[in-house]
Amino acid sequence: MGSVTRKIGRKQELAEREQVRRVARESIRQMEAALSRLSRKCSSCDAPFDPQDPVSLDRWHISVTHDSTVLTCPECKDRESVVQ
Ligand SMILES: [Zn+2]
Repeated sequence: MGSVTRKIGRKQELAEREQVRRVARESIRQMEAALSRLSRKCSSCDAPFDPQDPVSLDRWHISVTHDSTVLTCPECKDRESVVQ
C-alpha cells in the first residue's frame, strides 16, 4: 500500500501545483484586463501613459478604486508631493 499512498500524494501535489498555476494565470488575466481598461493618460495633465512600458508602469502612480483607476504621471506625482 505504500506505493499507492505515494502515488496519491504525488497526484495531490500535482493538482495543487496546477491549482497554483491556474490562480496565477487568472490573476495575470485580471491584471491585464484591468490594464486594458485603464485610461491611457494622466488624470491631471493628459500626459500619455503606455501600459506596455515597464518604466511607465514603475514611475506612474496607479490608484485603483472599486470601479475606476486613476493614473498620475511622474511629473504630477512630483508636483503633488511638493504641495504636501
Ligand atoms: Zn500628469
